[in-house]
Amino acid sequence: MIPPIANRFVGGETAPEAIETARSLQSRDVGAILNLLGEHHTAPDDAAGDRDAYRDLLADLDDPGVRGCVSVKPSQLGLDLGADTFRENASLVVDAASDHDGFVWFDMEDHETTDVTLDAVESFARDGHDVGVCLQANLRRTAADVERFADVPAKIRLVKGAYDEPEEIAYTNTSAVNDAYRDRLTEAFQSYDGGIAVGSHDEAMIEHAIECHDEYGTPFEFQFLAGVREDRLFELAETYECWQYVPYGDRWLSYFYRRVMERKENALFALRAILGR
Ligand code: FAD
Repeated sequence: MIPPIANRFVGGETAPEAIETARSLQSRDVGAILNLLGEHHTAPDDAAGDRDAYRDLLADLDDPGVRGCVSVKPSQLGLDLGADTFRENASLVVDAASDHDGFVWFDMEDHETTDVTLDAVESFARDGHDVGVCLQANLRRTAADVERFADVPAKIRLVKGAYDEPEEIAYTNTSAVNDAYRDRLTEAFQSYDGGIAVGSHDEAMIEHAIECHDEYGTPFEFQFLAGVREDRLFELAETYECWQYVPYGDRWLSYFYRRVMERKENALFALRAILGR
């Protein structure tokens, strides 16, 4: 069982629990982006197991009562085993989504995976599948990728980027990443007809997205991680389309540890919960 301190960041250990979390978010006008925890599978059976879990989940989500979609990590679908393995597994997941009126987001991992991920998503989108991909503002290449995806019938989720990348290919200081995020967001709002997801909890970026929307009228959505600034997400959901990214599954411990370690306030929150205050 997931202890109460980790519950905040994770939507359950099993698919039925994750779907229950999606239903409760829906009652507050927020959709759920469900991510089965797992990455860097090096055994084909592990990648196939997660692939099949997503296919089953997409079938279960095909219920008018649940506003949900999935988000997959390329390395959990076998990218470390080769691009072909990833493409084969991913194509079975997007086929299942098409069979069940679903949507598949592709998370973005470190910069060595960017091309293979974007190529796969572009080809799935051009084949008529409902897919979206994460673009990382910290990467210097992302201006070109935002431009490239303006003509692709896929959604993009713009994030700041969670991976430590070398200076040659990435902005590494906070203010440069923030500037890049603002610029990429503006470019997307200027050149896209829709399909923009703002994946940031940063109030300055949220305000910037609202200003871009007011200026260009482009449809968009906000996406937050489970357990982060939830009150703000529910407030935004009164006016804008909002989704929460909800990881679930029995591999929750390392995800919880990462969330706690990346923020001082999360560590304090965990400590207070352990001490019972
Ligand atoms: P920050 O400047 O880091 O944070 C702004 C404020 O948000 C902070 O001051 C704090 O109040 C709050 N906050 C942010 N993070 C936390 C936290 N963990 N706990 C508590 N408060 C917090 N990155 C990838 O590289 N690939 C992906 O596929 C990817 N997918 C994502 C999907 C979603 C829906 C979201 C929201 C993020 C995703 N990320 C992904 C992570 C992203 O790259 C950032 O690392 C993360 O969102 C923190 O950046 P920020 O824009 O929220 O701004």
